[in-house]
Amino acid sequence: MQHITKTIYLEFLTCAKNAWLKQYKPELASKFELSAFEKSLVANGNLVELWARKLFPSGILIEEFGEAATTKTQQYIKDKQPVIFQSTFILGNFLARNDVLEYDKDNDCWNLYEIKGTNTLKENGEERDHVEDAAFQYVVLCDYGVKIGRVNIIHLNKEYIRGDEINIHELFVIDDVTDKILEREDATRERMNKAEEALFQEDENALECTCIYQGRSNHCSTFHCSHPEVPEYSIHDLSRIGLSKKKLAELVNSGILDINDIPDGFKLSDTQRNQTDVHKSQIPIIDHSAIKNELESLSYPLYFLDYETYPPAIPLFKGFKPYQHIPFQFSLHVLNSSDGDIEHHEYLHTDNSDPTEGIISALKESIGPEGNVIVWYKPFERTRNSELGELSPSNREFLSDINNRIYDLMDVFHKQMHVHPNFKGSTSIKKVLPVLVPELSYKELAIREGGSAMEAWFEKILNASSEEEKNETAKNLLKYCYMDTYAMYAIWKELIKII
Ligand code: SF4
Repeated sequence: MQHITKTIYLEFLTCAKNAWLKQYKPELASKFELSAFEKSLVANGNLVELWARKLFPSGILIEEFGEAATTKTQQYIKDKQPVIFQSTFILGNFLARNDVLEYDKDNDCWNLYEIKGTNTLKENGEERDHVEDAAFQYVVLCDYGVKIGRVNIIHLNKEYIRGDEINIHELFVIDDVTDKILEREDATRERMNKAEEALFQEDENALECTCIYQGRSNHCSTFHCSHPEVPEYSIHDLSRIGLSKKKLAELVNSGILDINDIPDGFKLSDTQRNQTDVHKSQIPIIDHSAIKNELESLSYPLYFLDYETYPPAIPLFKGFKPYQHIPFQFSLHVLNSSDGDIEHHEYLHTDNSDPTEGIISALKESIGPEGNVIVWYKPFERTRNSELGELSPSNREFLSDINNRIYDLMDVFHKQMHVHPNFKGSTSIKKVLPVLVPELSYKELAIREGGSAMEAWFEKILNASSEEEKNETAKNLLKYCYMDTYAMYAIWKELIKII
C-alpha cells in the first residue's frame, strides 16, 4: 500500500473490505475490471475535466506523478502561479491531487476546485458524496500548510441545452461548499484516520464483508471470495430482498442461505414465493389465461422496436443536455398478421452528426398508424420518443402516438404470468431468452450488451481510426440490435405457442 488517494478513500467509505482487497489481492484484479458502461463513465469524467479547465485559461498543468509532481507543485506554490491543474501533495500516508488550485492574491490564499462529471452537486450530507471528496483534499492541504480560502465543486448544469457551440459558462455550475466542509471537517478527519488504520493493516480478517445481510444488487464481485459458503444462486437473489432487510437477516441468522432451505411457512412476497416455489419444484408457473388475455389485446401489425443510444456528459449536438441519450440506432421487426412473415427494418447513424432527423424519418417509413409497438422495459423507449419529440416538434405527434401504442413484453414476466426456475428471479431479456428460445443466443455476437454498443458507436463510429474499423463496428452494431428485436419476436412467438 503506497498512499491513500482520494479515490481509495472514497472506495474505503463505500466498503472498507473491498478497498482493502483491491490493494492487497492482485489475484482478484479481474474481479475489479470495469464494464464497458463504467469505462464510458470514466471517459466522460475525464472529458468533463478537460472542458472545465477552460474556465481557467491561465491554468498550468502538472503532468508528472508522485514525488516529481509534489516538487513541481512546491515550485508553483512558491511562484504563486495564478492557476495550477493537478497540484499534488503527499502528507504521511495521504496523497491529494487537486483538479484546480487558484491563487487569490487579494487574500494571499488558495481556492480549491474539484471537478465532477455529474450534473448535480450530489450531496447526501454524510459520507461518500462530492463534499466529502473535496473535504479530503481540504484536510490534506490544510495540514500540509497551504492556506485555503474557498472550496468549490464544479459540476455540469443539468438544465443546460447546447446551442451551435458549447458555452462553458452555462455548461458548468460552480458551488461554493466551504461552509459545508468546515462543518464536517472533524468527522472527515476521523474517517481518514479510520481509513489509514484499516488500509495499512495486513490481516484480511480484520475487515468484515457485511453484504451477507444485503441483496445481490449491493454485492461487489468479490462477495463469493469472502463468503464461499453461500451458493452461487442464493437467498440474496430473491426478488427485492434487499428491501426487506429484516427477512434477509432472519434467514441468514437461522443459517438458511440456499433457496431450497426456506421453510414453506416463511413470510415472503408473492413474487419471492413464486421464485422460491419454482426453484424448489423446478416446475415453471404459467398463467395461460392471463398471458392469453394480454397477448390477445395486442393489435396487428406488431412492431418489435429497440433503440441503442449514447448519453455523453458533454452534449455532442445542438439541442441536447448533459447526459441526454442520443438515439443513434433502431431495429424493428414487423409482423403484419398472425400468419404473416416477419419483416426487418433498421437504422444506424454512421456520420458524425445529430442522428435525430435521420432516425425519425426512418421510423416514419417503417411504422404505420396502427398496431402495437412492442418493447422490453417501456420507460426507456418512451422517454427516448418523448425526447425525440422535443428535439423535433414537427414529429412530436407521430412519436407520442408511438408511445400510446407501446406494449411492454417484459410485463408478462414482471407480472408473474410466467415464472421459470432458470429466470432466477430476473425479468431481463438476457435471462428470459435462453430459457424460452435456447437456440438463440447473444454469445456469438461481437457486441453483446447495451454498454458495449454505446462505447462502440462513440469510439469506433464517430471517432473511428479507419473506414475498415467503422464498417466492421457498424456490422456488429446492426447484428446486436437485430438480435434484441428478433429475440422479442421469438419470445412472443414462444408465448403464443404456450397459450
Ligand atoms: S460484497 Fe459487499 S461488503 Fe463484501 S466486499 Fe463487496 S461491497 Fe464489501
